[in-house]
Amino acid sequence: MHYFQAARTGGYAVGAFIADTLDTMEAVADACAQAGLPAVMMAGMATVRFLGPERYVDLCRSVGRGRSIPVYAHLDHCTDRDLLLRCAEAGFDSVMFDGSQRPFAENVAICAELAKKCHIRGALLEGELGVIAGQEEHVESAVSRFTDPALAEEFVRRTGVDALAVSVGNAHGLYQGAPELQFPLLEELARRCAIPLVLHGGTGIPGADLRRAVSMGVCKINVGTELRRAYMDAVRDYASQEGGTAIGLSQAIRDRVRPAAARYLEDYRPGGDRHAAL
Ligand SMILES: [Zn+2]
Repeated sequence: MHYFQAARTGGYAVGAFIADTLDTMEAVADACAQAGLPAVMMAGMATVRFLGPERYVDLCRSVGRGRSIPVYAHLDHCTDRDLLLRCAEAGFDSVMFDGSQRPFAENVAICAELAKKCHIRGALLEGELGVIAGQEEHVESAVSRFTDPALAEEFVRRTGVDALAVSVGNAHGLYQGAPELQFPLLEELARRCAIPLVLHGGTGIPGADLRRAVSMGVCKINVGTELRRAYMDAVRDYASQEGGTAIGLSQAIRDRVRPAAARYLEDYRPGGDRHAAL
């Protein structure tokens, strides 16, 4: 059973975090191991273009070595089909194609083709339907458009994607005021789509809402903004002190990023038992 499906069956969500450096990866893996949940390291297109897909996978495998939990490599919000397939080829465990800005029929056609190609390469494919507001690298939208349940059902049936990112009031970046997740919509989406659902824009969603979303079938929660902020705060604070060292900086980053990730993971297993996730 693949990691998305194992999460849905087990009634928990995996922690997916934007992780661009070794320090972030180590901090995330430590937090996930502490929570007894698999860790998903997410790279955006800029990161894999910078490091190279093979190097990114190597880093994830290395961080996972000797740990009590699996560590997966995931490509987030990819709009470039060639790059996505290169990542699948390089050993990414899962990749996301973001066709949410395209017409429905085009999104279906591309995802159906990519799902076949990814599966041959042993990678899972995440699709997206509906538009998530906010900015994530070069995918940006001023307004959100909620995921339509009938279209979602059709999308899943026609594409063969392994997981679906939904727009139910979640947003990328920082929320203006409290986020208002549309739980009746999420419930209907989970009822109509047998595959695991993914919630993007986890930063700033209250714990009670995360627990409720997980109990309804959300199996992966993406957090980026909070970790980026923790990372940069650590760099700024450390650099402002005298007599620093490179290792001291790495340690300061890890010490700041680990709790930022751990805070979310507390709510990814509503009522579940710690070891059932592994
Ligand atoms: Zn996203």
